[in-house]
Amino acid sequence: MEKRRIEHLLGGERRICITGHVRPDGDCVGSCLGLRSYLLTLDATLKVDVFLEPAPAPFALLTGFDGIRTYQQEDGEYDLCFVLDAGERGRLGANAACLDHAGRIVCIDHHRTQRSFVPECIVEPEASATCELLFDLMDEEKINLETAECLYLGIAHDTGVFRHSNVTRHTMEAAGVLIGKGVRHSKIVNDTFFSKTYLQNQLLGRALVESIVFCEGQCIVSMVSLKTMEFYRATHEDLEGIVDQLRLTRGVEVAIFISETEFQVYKVSLRSNEKVDVSRVAEYFGGGGHLRAAGCTMTGTFYDVVNNLSEQIAPQLGM
Ligand code: 5GP
Ligand code: MN
Repeated sequence: MEKRRIEHLLGGERRICITGHVRPDGDCVGSCLGLRSYLLTLDATLKVDVFLEPAPAPFALLTGFDGIRTYQQEDGEYDLCFVLDAGERGRLGANAACLDHAGRIVCIDHHRTQRSFVPECIVEPEASATCELLFDLMDEEKINLETAECLYLGIAHDTGVFRHSNVTRHTMEAAGVLIGKGVRHSKIVNDTFFSKTYLQNQLLGRALVESIVFCEGQCIVSMVSLKTMEFYRATHEDLEGIVDQLRLTRGVEVAIFISETEFQVYKVSLRSNEKVDVSRVAEYFGGGGHLRAAGCTMTGTFYDVVNNLSEQIAPQLGM
């Protein structure tokens, strides 16, 4: 069987837009910019625009970052829209508007909770990252250095720099090919993944100090309130990575990090180590994600949220 390729998805469209999920992370930004770069390699005369919410500043080392913007009515019509790394329309925020101005929509994603919300969906839950799936859909020969750096960044981020259980032999082989293209792999992971601002480290420290364990030490939870966010003038970007540090607590199976976004409205991040399918927990509360990393939005008091989560997690821990 001939390999599926991006080239085969195209039907002569000239005006193309690319969008992804709210609070864009490394895989979302990497996949959108990587696809943009690849399409321009295929045909430099195409119009290719990337519509995302503002992305973390360190991702500026990727080509095309400066062109990222939010879709506006004035942007008008597109022949084709690619939706990347998002399983449902609700995850696109304000940029969902560009779907209504596109002749055709193609979704490329790796979320197991993907809702196939558009007719043309390429979904591969076994792929560690949307960037890994995109790599498979690209002709290796046509992946230039700019495209390779985008894909490498996305794979590195969604695998926690090749630590998570979503890493396969294929993930490493794809990363190997990308390194062969000359990507600045050490700079990319250090500058965009490990490096933290002073504020990020302060918030991480606070979250660790204030964390609570429950379910006989198998779960850990920490919360940052709106008041704290305002005190530090912090944004959601400043909280990146906290849940991953909580997950490393010895004996813990599930880590939960909760940030208050409005009064008694919380963004909940879930991570697990070996047993618990956190995508099921997140999906129960209207969210989604992967086996070992998922998220949702919840409301009520902090204690309501923890109790409700605990009720869904405990049975999976055999409690
Ligand atoms: P994070 O905790 O890093 O925000 O997200 C972990 C994973 O869960 C990511 O793959 C992300 O796309 C997904 N995710 C996070 N929040 C939500 C949500 O509210 N809805 C859905 N469907 N997925 C989410
Ligand atoms: Mn992803």
